[in-house]
Amino acid sequence: MCPQADSNTRNRIRELEQLLHQKEAELALLAEIAEIVASEEGLDAAFAIIAERARALLDAKTVTIPLLSADQTSYTYRAAAGLNAEELTGAELPIEVGLCGWVLRHHKPWWRGTLEDLDENERNYWEKKAGNIILVPLVGKRRFLGGIAAIDKLDDSNFTERDLDLLAMFSRQVGFAVENAMYLEELQAATERTEAYRRQLEQSNRQLLRTNEELEHLALHDPLTGLPNRSLVIDRVQQAILNARRNQEPMALLMLDLDHFKEVNDTLGHLVGDKLLIRVGERFQSSLREPDTLGRLGGDEFAIVLPQASQEDAQIVAEKLQDALRRPVDIDQNSFSVAASIGIAIYPEHGPDPSSLLRSADIAMYVAKRARNEFAIYQPEYDTYNPDHLSLLRDLREAIRRNDITAAFQPKLDLRTGNIVGMEALARWQHPEKGDIPPYEFIPILEQTGLIKPFTLQILEKAADYCAQCRAKKMEFSVAVNLSMHNLRDDRLPDQISEIISRHDIAPRQLILEITESAIMHDPEHSIGILERLNEMGLRLSVDDFGTGYSSLSYLKRLPVSQLKIDRSFVKTMARDKDDAMIVRSTIELAHNLGLDTVAEGVEDEETLEQLRAMHCDMAQGYLISRPLSADNFFHFMLSSPWAARSELPEPDSA
Ligand code: C2E
Ligand code: MG
Ligand code: MG
Repeated sequence: MCPQADSNTRNRIRELEQLLHQKEAELALLAEIAEIVASEEGLDAAFAIIAERARALLDAKTVTIPLLSADQTSYTYRAAAGLNAEELTGAELPIEVGLCGWVLRHHKPWWRGTLEDLDENERNYWEKKAGNIILVPLVGKRRFLGGIAAIDKLDDSNFTERDLDLLAMFSRQVGFAVENAMYLEELQAATERTEAYRRQLEQSNRQLLRTNEELEHLALHDPLTGLPNRSLVIDRVQQAILNARRNQEPMALLMLDLDHFKEVNDTLGHLVGDKLLIRVGERFQSSLREPDTLGRLGGDEFAIVLPQASQEDAQIVAEKLQDALRRPVDIDQNSFSVAASIGIAIYPEHGPDPSSLLRSADIAMYVAKRARNEFAIYQPEYDTYNPDHLSLLRDLREAIRRNDITAAFQPKLDLRTGNIVGMEALARWQHPEKGDIPPYEFIPILEQTGLIKPFTLQILEKAADYCAQCRAKKMEFSVAVNLSMHNLRDDRLPDQISEIISRHDIAPRQLILEITESAIMHDPEHSIGILERLNEMGLRLSVDDFGTGYSSLSYLKRLPVSQLKIDRSFVKTMARDKDDAMIVRSTIELAHNLGLDTVAEGVEDEETLEQLRAMHCDMAQGYLISRPLSADNFFHFMLSSPWAARSELPEPDSA
């Protein structure tokens, strides 16, 4: 073998070895890049390695990887290796500046030799700019990604065409992998963004739902007790009506109002009043069943919706609600006896829709309160607000104008002497068509319309006149007249009474004015002023219906009263009910300790009378002795009744 051939072969073998070496290196590089791109390290690490490998491949001082922005208006050096690498990485340039734009526009690598290809405009520009730099496009399967640029050779020689080929080949090999990785990265970022957005959306949704619920709750519940408010109650009534209609069965609406709540508020303050409402609400709630709705309509008014309930069921619930109030309610150091009046309305008899049912229940409640019953079931006759109401009001006005309302007189028996000592004047209205209308039906109408003032004067007039008639028959009685709370706010009342007394020439002591606790407590300061003037005039004052109101003993002490009338609801049951007997006994003792006389009203049997006598009650009034009588019948009673027969002719001062 000739030496020449030998050396040729050796060279060839070396070349082949180098090529093999290079191919192996390329393969290794590809494997490495594929691995990094797929690894957790992420694209930044992959680009850094690509840049470094390219730099080593070309013996370049610096390699950069500029990547195009999505809209292709700028590019960013995503990675760099070698000199100034750190400074370059992350820098962003507009597409018009630098080689990257040129490469993008021409879709071919940039090399010094490219200068020949430049057109006139470009040449001036790039000729000035072009240093020792080559740039090849970095292209994926689907798009142009950017490029890979090498700047300055380590030995300061120029880049050769072979360098350009090497870099271009290198770029082709990493292009697809990079594109995929970039897609993956974008996808991941987009997924993350979507996920974050979804989470945010979910959170705002939850928040919105919560706010909505809160708003709905606020709109539909009473803030004090947390119970459903009027709107929600009406809604529940509507639902119950729909169900009832579908199943052809009745439902019931109860309306409940606390007695004398206003006085608690006025004398002990709103805080105590509020607590009382909350506690009472809890008591009611605990005596109801799951499907029932307890709501607060406002003030001291509650409503109870009973789906699928007959009149009998409603009555049982009303009794349960009343039972719930039998124990006193303790608030702070005070103990309150709370009473309530309940009105019951049944669908469909008492109204076809929520508003008419509410109205019926309201009217029934009002009647219960007036009649001092624990509850009342609606009856059309109660309905003073129906079209008849207006005509009733007209008739009432007319009755007062014509002085048609009369007074009945109910005798009062002195238990100490056995004498009839006086009487109570009770208003009676005989309606021309409707017959007898009880006071608890027409007096509220008078109170609502201001007619109560002329009406009271008429009754006073009749009472004084009757007193004078009795005296003419040699019977000196006291006569009691009921005042309404509106009278206690009327500053002219004392003068008007004074005029009546002097005109009939009766002694002021013969006139007793009955006022309920609640009438006084309605506006205590003002009432006390007027009561004091009446007392100074020599009239006597009596607290009517004692025990039914919220009794403030401190006021009682300040009032110029001389008599307590124990409410008939205690008296009626005292013979059977130990508690009521206790209340009556304590009231008598309390009254005596305060220097007051006691009258028991509503005495219906001998046993009660005996008990009262044993308790040292001073006077008694009730059906046992006599029902309220017309003026003529009262004279007749005085002449013929065994009660009166026992009487000596009374002294004017003893009642
Ligand atoms: P009141 O002042 O407590 O009058 C006593 C009521 O009890 C009267 O009812 C009387 O008829 C009734 N009563 C008397 N004895 C018995 C009894 O043994 N058993 C029962 N169950 N009841 C008995 P009336 O006449 O229906 O009056 C009811 C209320 O109307 C009165 O209660 C009073 O608050 C009011 N009232 C009556 N007349 C007038 C008036 O002229 N002016 C004012 N402002 N109110 C009046
Ligand atoms: Mg009375
Ligand atoms: Mg009374």
